[in-house]
Amino acid sequence: MRKKIVAGNWKMNKTWPEAQALVNALMDKKNLIPAGVQVIIAPPAPYLQPLSEAAAPTLAVASQNCSQHDGGAYTGEISPGMLSSIHVNHSIIGHSERRQFYGETNEIVRAKVDACLRHGITPIFCCGELLSERNAGEHFNTVAAQVKEALFHLSAEALSKVVIAYEPVWAIGTGVTATNEQAEEMHSFIRAFLVKNYNQDVADSISILYGGSVNAANAAELFACPNVDGGLVGGASLKADDFMTIIQAAQ
Ligand code: PEP
Repeated sequence: MRKKIVAGNWKMNKTWPEAQALVNALMDKKNLIPAGVQVIIAPPAPYLQPLSEAAAPTLAVASQNCSQHDGGAYTGEISPGMLSSIHVNHSIIGHSERRQFYGETNEIVRAKVDACLRHGITPIFCCGELLSERNAGEHFNTVAAQVKEALFHLSAEALSKVVIAYEPVWAIGTGVTATNEQAEEMHSFIRAFLVKNYNQDVADSISILYGGSVNAANAAELFACPNVDGGLVGGASLKADDFMTIIQAAQ
């Protein structure tokens, strides 16, 4: 069963007092969270454990990245085993900023997906095309390659544990949102690709989130698209009122 999910990617924002204030504001309004909508926050790594203690299970907590390695001499990295040991059960994997600034290839993303699944962490796998790729009519090919190269080695059972986030790179942090038609077209393409390579049951079990300048004003229309199961939200997840409006739009 596809779950409705709204996830907030805080990126590298908020001091610790600001982070606490944001979570407190969300928890104060927790009665507004519709039944059946799973809310996830992805704060910076130092806040994962205390915020998980303060907010779970109302708000699930995700890391913004994790290592593909299980442990060892990888200075600065955080392993999926470490995350699961502090009850962090989700991780954003392959965000376009990781791909762009930290050289994460489809091969690395695939290894990170595997590492998460080895440790019982749900990968929120990000895919999406550059503006130049869309303008060249290559957007379906780009997304298909990202999905195939990072996910299609998985068994049907393992793949069913993954959440997919379609995030056109040109829409992330730009204020330019994909139109409802563009979002639905790509989401239904991804779902059909899952049917073709696995089966209908697998495709029907995977939530596909839209990300890219989702805000309090446009969320309801985007989330009403038949193949959009919620959102991965950056900037608008940093304000409690806006984020709560977006959460309610996923109902
Ligand atoms: C993101 O960081 O995944 C994102 C979608 O950001 P924004 O909502 O700010 O475009």
